[in-house]
Amino acid sequence: MLKTKIDLKLFEKGIKFECQGSGKCCTSHGEFGFVFLTLSDRKRMAKHLELTTSQFTKRFCQRTNGFWHLIETPNNPDCHFLKNKKCSIYEARPTQCRTWPFWPEVMSAKAWKKEVVNFCPGVGKGSLIKFEKINKDMQEQIASEQELAREAQEI
Ligand code: SF4
Repeated sequence: MLKTKIDLKLFEKGIKFECQGSGKCCTSHGEFGFVFLTLSDRKRMAKHLELTTSQFTKRFCQRTNGFWHLIETPNNPDCHFLKNKKCSIYEARPTQCRTWPFWPEVMSAKAWKKEVVNFCPGVGKGSLIKFEKINKDMQEQIASEQELAREAQEI
């Protein structure tokens, strides 16, 4: 559940951000451990891998408290799809991977510094991401989290 009070003032002038391919965010860490998947994420990823959604779900997913997420391998924090520090399903990657780092959970000065600036080497690099794009990604992430919560209620 969203505990952060979103403060978009920090992002009004845009933020410089460019993924540096560190693979850090593809490795399970703290409370942002799971890669959650909505049904539309699972469908898109299954299609990309030429599997049915059911085959994909059986092979790569598990459910915790009703929420679908990518399966975790004991003693290996890396995402199953991380190969040579790169996402092997990049074009079809999950919504939360595509919207990082503009998640509602980190859209406050304190959370942004703690969870993004201190963690992600992409901050401050590359070209300026305009506020409109930041807000669009954040809204997409919010919608995806709502979809996940709805799906978690379904048995
Ligand atoms: S699906 Fe791709 S982008 Fe997302 S965590 Fe796994 S390797 Fe990283």
